[in-house]
Amino acid sequence: MSGSWPGDEPSALYRQLSREGFTAAPLTGGARADVAVVGGGISGLSAALHLRWAGLSVAVLEAAAIGAGASGRNNGQVIPTLTRHDPLAVRAIFGEARSERFLRMLQSSADLLFSLVEEYGIDCDAVRNGWFQAAHSPGRARAAAARAAQWKARGAPAEALDAAALRAHLGGGDYAGGWRHGGGGHINPLAYTRGLARAAVEEGAAVHEHSPALSLRREGNDWLIRCPRGELRARKVVLATAAHTGALWPGLARTIVPVTSYQLATDPLGEDGEGVLPWNEACSDTRNDLRYFRRDREGRLVTGGALAVQVDVRRRLTRLVAGRLAETFPALAGRALPWFWGGRIAMTTDRLPRLHRSPDGLVAWIGCNGRGLALCTGMGAVVRDAVLDRPEAELALPVTPFRPVPFHPLVRRTARLALLHYRRRDRREI
Ligand SMILES: Cc1cc2nc3c(=O)[nH]c(=O)nc-3n(C[C@H](O)[C@H](O)[C@H](O)COP(=O)(O)OP(=O)(O)OC[C@H]3O[C@@H](n4cnc5c(N)ncnc54)[C@H](O)[C@@H]3O)c2cc1C
Repeated sequence: MSGSWPGDEPSALYRQLSREGFTAAPLTGGARADVAVVGGGISGLSAALHLRWAGLSVAVLEAAAIGAGASGRNNGQVIPTLTRHDPLAVRAIFGEARSERFLRMLQSSADLLFSLVEEYGIDCDAVRNGWFQAAHSPGRARAAAARAAQWKARGAPAEALDAAALRAHLGGGDYAGGWRHGGGGHINPLAYTRGLARAAVEEGAAVHEHSPALSLRREGNDWLIRCPRGELRARKVVLATAAHTGALWPGLARTIVPVTSYQLATDPLGEDGEGVLPWNEACSDTRNDLRYFRRDREGRLVTGGALAVQVDVRRRLTRLVAGRLAETFPALAGRALPWFWGGRIAMTTDRLPRLHRSPDGLVAWIGCNGRGLALCTGMGAVVRDAVLDRPEAELALPVTPFRPVPFHPLVRRTARLALLHYRRRDRREI
């Protein structure tokens, strides 16, 4: 990821707020481990922890600093669901037995995240007051109620919200209703990622920053990974490189479209913010051109957006998001948005995560589709099972061959333009 926009550093706001620090030396010389994990985001670090708990020796290679990818740049909302597929849709696609394993993992993913925070004392401003989804049309409100019913039927703390209840939770807006998941919440994601790295080291994993895996090849029964200043030999390799996936496993990068999304934050709101998210929950809405809000530890509103055309991004996006903020929370009209950063999300065409495994010991999962704090944490167990050669039929996700996104180079360059279509659809929905 070194040298690629939007930069090698995690969010400056999150760095300022994070009381978790983490630094690790680059890999030098020769090293060996049972499993090499490439990528030091939440996916790679959760996989490393799960593999250590299973008794394997693990070395994590991160190209930049821990949290430099999406894990240190996102909005921080902890949501134990997928973006698009509800439980019944997952069952229709994966079948009864597999969907049950997958949904159990997903449903408990926020529990796992908050329990890791507790167990390892990760200082990441964790707030577990719930997450709710605001419906931008009456049709979406009905769909939200059905979604709540499906999760509730599985025992999740889910409830439908009517328009008045939604307004009370958000402290503004003009939404048609929505639903709430009481198991969600929010965190400083960079602090969480750094805390996971610390936990992995405490459990005996080796973690190396500024150690991009430059090449990967077979040598005897091992994989040999070359980094700028050292080499790592391992029986198995986990690729947890998400939207920053390069050419290490030829074909993997073509299975996803990396999409850039931006975050903006106000300064602490003070009195103006008294009615905004009064119960300190996390909120995202049902628009395809998503709107989302949460408060940080010091009372800033952290929000974000996306642009179809990547020109003059900061100025145009600031104007767009400031307008949306004023529309939703009139008391915030004219508020500056002095914090700005971006990150990359790995999107799949069907919005489902993918698990890949080669017969000679490569494992990868990819495709968080923009909702990954809980999912990436939970997927650590699935990756462990795949590394341990558990039969495909017993895994929580099917092991699939690479399915390249059709016209990948073109789609990669033009994916953002789909936003124009999504905005039109959002406006027309009833
Ligand atoms: C702007 C934004 C807002 C978001 N908001 C939310 C939210 O509120 N809630 C939510 O649940 N999800 C959210 N997401 C999604 C969430 O951030 C991701 O799902 C999650 O962080 C992905 O973690 P990861 O470990 O899979 O990938 P990443 O964190 O991207 O980590 C991949 C790592 O691999 C490293 N790497 C790549 N190639 C190599 C190599 N060759 N050698 C070594 N290292 C390599 C990269 O440097 C990077 O650190 C958001 C994402 C973005 C971008």
